Amino acid sequence: MNLNQVQRCVLYARLSVTKEESVSIARQLESGRKYAEARGWEVVGEFVDDGVSAMANRPEDRKGWAALLAADDFDAVVIWKVDRLARRVLDFLHADESLQARRAGLVAVEDPIDMTSPQGRAFAVMLAVFGEMEAEGIRARVRAARAHLIKDGRFVGGGIPYGYRSTQNLDGPGRILTKDAERIRWLGEAVRLAQQGGTVNAIAIWLTDQGAPLPVRRKPRIDPENTAWNRQTVEQLLRNPVLAGMTPHNPGRAKSDKRADPFAVVRDEHGAPVIDESLAIITFEEFVQLQRTLDTRDSPQARKRTERQTTSPFLSRVALCDDCDVFLYRGTNQKQPVLYCPKCRQTLGRVRLDLYLTGRLLAERGTESCAGSTVRERWKLAGDDEMARRAVLMSQLDILRVRRGVVGRYFDADRLVLQWRPTTVPAG
Ligand SMILES: [Zn+2]
Repeated sequence: MNLNQVQRCVLYARLSVTKEESVSIARQLESGRKYAEARGWEVVGEFVDDGVSAMANRPEDRKGWAALLAADDFDAVVIWKVDRLARRVLDFLHADESLQARRAGLVAVEDPIDMTSPQGRAFAVMLAVFGEMEAEGIRARVRAARAHLIKDGRFVGGGIPYGYRSTQNLDGPGRILTKDAERIRWLGEAVRLAQQGGTVNAIAIWLTDQGAPLPVRRKPRIDPENTAWNRQTVEQLLRNPVLAGMTPHNPGRAKSDKRADPFAVVRDEHGAPVIDESLAIITFEEFVQLQRTLDTRDSPQARKRTERQTTSPFLSRVALCDDCDVFLYRGTNQKQPVLYCPKCRQTLGRVRLDLYLTGRLLAERGTESCAGSTVRERWKLAGDDEMARRAVLMSQLDILRVRRGVVGRYFDADRLVLQWRPTTVPAG
């Protein structure tokens, strides 16, 4: 698309709910209109995503951007800055591809991008990289602040889970989370029923019948007479890592996201979950089993196989970038599942990596003890449950680092630094 031929354009503006930026939708659109006017382009549509985080939502999953793609008869999209469109490089490239496919150009008022020349494209990608680094910086700061509080055993906020309450910390500043004597009993009963095979629906009905107190809400109920439990509430309780004494830690993801990873929790420097025994009502192993049970039972919510592969939690927060010392993220590259470094962008294909790791785990550690059994037994029990598989891998893994490849994203065993945990020997 040659920008000299543009006649009709549409405007796109986005504002995040976290207000990490301050330029209002109105101002973004206004500057877009001026930009178009100066070039003699006709504005044939304006599309907006208000209160939508670019970290938690891919462009195509946003209502405004999706409506824009569905509109016709425009040959350019005007945005205010590259980071309005995407804060992840892959998302940016993907969004640009959709525009190219319909022969529409992309311009940004504040960023001199020109997607019609190779140099211009490279520059745009670089801006997208900066956007992503900045997003990562925001998350890193949130993470550091939380890690500090957690180290002190303090409650980090973000909603008190059912069965618990926050109390004044007697040993220092701030507040800490403790069990709520009455509600923890109901929570324990709900978990026990789920472990025995009760469905989420059945548990909701049982809690309602028994008159179990409902979770406390910030906003008053629309109908205060309604004391019925719903299945979403029960499901959230059963998937909360606090059940095993872990602290949920999922920055950058919207609370409303129902696919929140129950294993996105605060971890120590070895990647093992940090567990506060005083809060746990089941063990980590029981929690893994419970998630597995919930996953297999709720078939309507069970994810599609293809989707599961790319978002498979098997290698979530497992491998570190050898250069940057940060965990590699899960993503896709040319529709293939990959791990990639959020800092240096190195990428590694997942398909062969997963097979290679699995092979070595079973060959070299198969007879090691794992959760009262052997690694091989546990692996077999895990079936194709990626979270259970991950738990088995993590029980053996000490170090997994990925070095940058000479030829891009291809798998090469030399790129891995893999070290198992020392073999457990009885103490004494
Ligand atoms: Zn890196």
